[in-house]
Amino acid sequence: KPARKAEPQGPQPVPGIARIIAIASGKGGVGKSTVAANLACALAAEGRRVGLLDADVYGPSQPRMLGVSGRPASPDGKTILPLRNHGVTMMSMGLMTNEDQAVVWRGPMLMGALQQMMMQVQWGALDVLLVDLPPGTGDVQLTLTQKFAVDGAIIVSTPQDVALLDARKGIDMFKQLKTPILGMIENMSTHICSNCGHEEHVFGHGGVASEAEKLGVPLLSEIPLHLDIRIASDGGAPIVVAKPDSAQAAGFRHVARNL
Ligand code: ADP
Repeated sequence: KPARKAEPQGPQPVPGIARIIAIASGKGGVGKSTVAANLACALAAEGRRVGLLDADVYGPSQPRMLGVSGRPASPDGKTILPLRNHGVTMMSMGLMTNEDQAVVWRGPMLMGALQQMMMQVQWGALDVLLVDLPPGTGDVQLTLTQKFAVDGAIIVSTPQDVALLDARKGIDMFKQLKTPILGMIENMSTHICSNCGHEEHVFGHGGVASEAEKLGVPLLSEIPLHLDIRIASDGGAPIVVAKPDSAQAAGFRHVARNL
């Protein structure tokens, strides 16, 4: 009887995908999905082959932000065809459920769903796959980093102490899991009035910069809080697509260029 082939151990690469980068945050609502959508579109605009996996099972927002809808097809009943817009190949848990349906999943189901999204979606050849994680330090984060060779994580936070506290926990988790931290992004850094251009530090300013310095990780960018960014996301064309040359898009494009 031939010896059973050993089960693969440790994180595995995904065939055809050169790099996997996780976009993470400690708290919800800090703009993690906004960052993921804009980085994906900015990378695509530079001619890179980019995929975006919306693994934020509790609040999948990428279909709306990237302006895609409909159920992904599965012609052979085994693999899933991803959707595509703004040059980004994308798949979301939100496309497998109704938009207003609450997701109540236990850990093993989440792990199965994530593995299916990574391995059974026909991503094609990609230079980079961005994974928009749920907030916090839970099963999806663990499964992603333990099963797949993640090249690095970007941590998004607002400058507030409450958000930074949770961001620190997220960074600690990635360090424990041996996932390199590529850097932090301060979102909602400064409010720029869309009427008069007046600047105001609604959530404080510079909190992420000093935290990043303390933790020894790079600060990748400070993104302003601006009405245009929210309107662009809600309209299905992120700010780097809607207004690529605006100051509001500059930070995202800068980070993408250096990824
Ligand atoms: P998360 O993924 O962290 O839960 P989202 O990216 O969904 O957060 O952002 C939450 C809300 O805030 C969305 O409506 C989004 O459009 C808005 N938003 C995020 N970043 C900005 C910003 N820099 N300026 C204006 N609105 C923003």
